Amino acid sequence: MRFKRVLARAVGIEQAVVQWLRFDEVAGVFVVGVRLPQRAEGRCGWCGRRCPGYDQGRRVPRRWRGLDVGTVRCFVQADLARVRCARHGVTTQAVPWARHQAGHTRDFDALTAWLCTRMSKTAVAHKLRTSWATVGAIITRVMADADAAAGDRWANLARIGVDEISYKRGYRYLTVVVDHDSRRLLWLAEGRSKTTLSGFFTELGPAGCARIALVSADGADWIFNAVRDHCPNAEICLDPFHVVSWATQALDEVRRACWNTARRAGQTAVATGLKQARYALWKNPPDLTARQQATLAAIAHTNKPLYRAYLLKEQLRQVFATGGTAGAGLLDAWLGWAARSRLPVFADLARRIRAYFRADIINTLTYKLSNGLIESTNTKIRLLTRIAFGFKSVDALIALAKLHLAGYQISLPGRS
Ligand SMILES: [Zn+2]
Repeated sequence: MRFKRVLARAVGIEQAVVQWLRFDEVAGVFVVGVRLPQRAEGRCGWCGRRCPGYDQGRRVPRRWRGLDVGTVRCFVQADLARVRCARHGVTTQAVPWARHQAGHTRDFDALTAWLCTRMSKTAVAHKLRTSWATVGAIITRVMADADAAAGDRWANLARIGVDEISYKRGYRYLTVVVDHDSRRLLWLAEGRSKTTLSGFFTELGPAGCARIALVSADGADWIFNAVRDHCPNAEICLDPFHVVSWATQALDEVRRACWNTARRAGQTAVATGLKQARYALWKNPPDLTARQQATLAAIAHTNKPLYRAYLLKEQLRQVFATGGTAGAGLLDAWLGWAARSRLPVFADLARRIRAYFRADIINTLTYKLSNGLIESTNTKIRLLTRIAFGFKSVDALIALAKLHLAGYQISLPGRS
């Protein structure tokens, strides 16, 4: 008797009643025959509710891959009756040692998830003697359970960041939501639309949505619209990087216009110079090489409008570097300057910012919430999308990202 209990522990099926052990010489695996303990009989595999029996099942014993015993692979085998659940209809009864419809025990699942956060893809599949696609299916169900078990993990959510990330060579997108306070990945879903993000807010519920105070985002309409529809008390913090990139684009338009004018006037040397000035104009001043500094100095002398555009771009960067009330003052000064700059693209940009984004930028300056956290999260997810190659569904990629970035504690089997 004692041996059976030790065996159950080794294989990670302590909630099962071990009946026999066989070594399959052909396959080179252990097979452990088990049955459900009386108290666990007759529960629905989906919801765990006790329900009336239906029949004796498919008459083919079920098998689950369990933890290896030493170097030998091990399978758990049982005959399972079916039950009729009022909610889920006829289904195989629940077993405590494995998730419903899974081909591996819970301990095997846990070991897989734990290894995924610590070893390379190849090492995990090799160590477990399974395919990478199977690993994807396992972590998907482990993370679904972790999400469900975590309960109201979003109870104190107040400051979030939203962004999108492309995968599958830019053909597909994921919407990413992070928590600025715990600095964790909160939510990830396929798509990038108002509907996608509304899925998060629906999960969060009306009370949770009402607690959201700040949302950092780039200028995307779909994020703005979803936040407006669901979060009555939320303010948007517009990402500094995106705002500055608008000015950089405007600057490039001015440069191209100057270049075209010079080209048409036959000023070849000037045109070439303007083409080469592109990087000098783009870069942040501290990063300029000596040569690029000289280029800029020349522009300051010879091309006043282009130099003015450059200063406008730099000044907008300064707005965010300053922040707070002083930054807000600089922003208004900038809007006035851009409007009077006699550079139509900058005047347009100033008009657009004043009409739609000024309040969102003031929020960014006041609360100092940038998309930096979400950018770094996205960098990590981008890395994981490469690892996730070979998984069959996007759900497995999402599970892998949560496993690494959502802050869940995954324990090794047999430890707590
Ligand atoms: Zn049920």
